[in-house]
Amino acid sequence: MDKSVNLYVVVPCYNEEAVLHETSKRMLELFGNMKSEGLINDKSRIVFVDDGSRDKTWSIINDLTKEHTEIAGVKLAKNAGHQNALFGGLMTVKDSCDCAISIDADLQDDINVIPEMVKNYLDGYDVVYGVRNKRDTDTFFKRTTAVGFYKLMHLMGVNIVFNHADYRLMSKRALDGLAQFHERNLFLRGMVPLVGYRSTSVYYDRNERFAGESKYPLKKMLSFAFDGITSFSISPIRMISAFGAVVCVIAVAMAVYALVQKIIGHAGAGWASLMMSIWFIGGVQLLSVGLIGEYIGKLYKEVKRRPRYIIEAYVNETSEAEKSE
Ligand code: UDP
Ligand code: MG
Repeated sequence: MDKSVNLYVVVPCYNEEAVLHETSKRMLELFGNMKSEGLINDKSRIVFVDDGSRDKTWSIINDLTKEHTEIAGVKLAKNAGHQNALFGGLMTVKDSCDCAISIDADLQDDINVIPEMVKNYLDGYDVVYGVRNKRDTDTFFKRTTAVGFYKLMHLMGVNIVFNHADYRLMSKRALDGLAQFHERNLFLRGMVPLVGYRSTSVYYDRNERFAGESKYPLKKMLSFAFDGITSFSISPIRMISAFGAVVCVIAVAMAVYALVQKIIGHAGAGWASLMMSIWFIGGVQLLSVGLIGEYIGKLYKEVKRRPRYIIEAYVNETSEAEKSE
């Protein structure tokens, strides 16, 4: 029996013209090695997902698909964002593969643990998380914000794997499970543990981006973190409720105090505390309304059920004949 795996590697690319040649070269080399070891079969593919890039990304991918049968390309009709592009890629390949690995185009994640991931898959694991050993190559800023983010997520009761981003292997049935999540606000590293099945981790050192710039500026990072929390946890809303309760108790105490002042004839002096309470309550209300609004905004997006991505082309797709081989 042929035990070699039909592996698809899904690589989201947004304006990655500077890295694509090197990335595909290294991946093809690795694919060659894994094939000669009999780990993966000839139907295995490296699938580059062009997330509506403005540079030459798609034409490079297109050329690569012509030169190498192992390379396939998916083009999204517009920029859908990293998580959507990744999800789109995985859903596009899931029916052609035994398992799929997602990895960033800049190869900051070490591709040399891919064989280990595949071996874990053969050992019966459905999800294999790629986990960073250390974060030496990240800037101090990125490191501390990342650690803070994981801590905050845990505090809010969201189960995510520490130091794991979106470098992971998922089996076909895990992908089928993921396909059943119909939410629009994607936060894959929070969703995958919810799918379940047996999972394990492999460890690697994270490199620096070898070319090009990060597509995750601070603004995107913060909105990603905020999305992660509000998509997965209602504890912010509970905290507001608890805060509201405390404020109510204080308000009662203030009322008693004001009444006593009135009776003993010192009412005029209450102006300052009154003004303070008005402002305080006003602030709390605004904050609460804003937060509730955030959730309502999410509900609004969910009920619209807009497509997460629209594929414009799928080049070098495994043919029907090849599939049934
Ligand atoms: N990416 C994407 N769509 C976007 C932004 C980023 O597909 O809108 C891809 C990008 O090409 C890369 C991956 O997501 O392959 C991670 O981006 P990046 O390396 O810039 O993030 P960082 O490593 O700095 O967090
Ligand atoms: Mg990167």
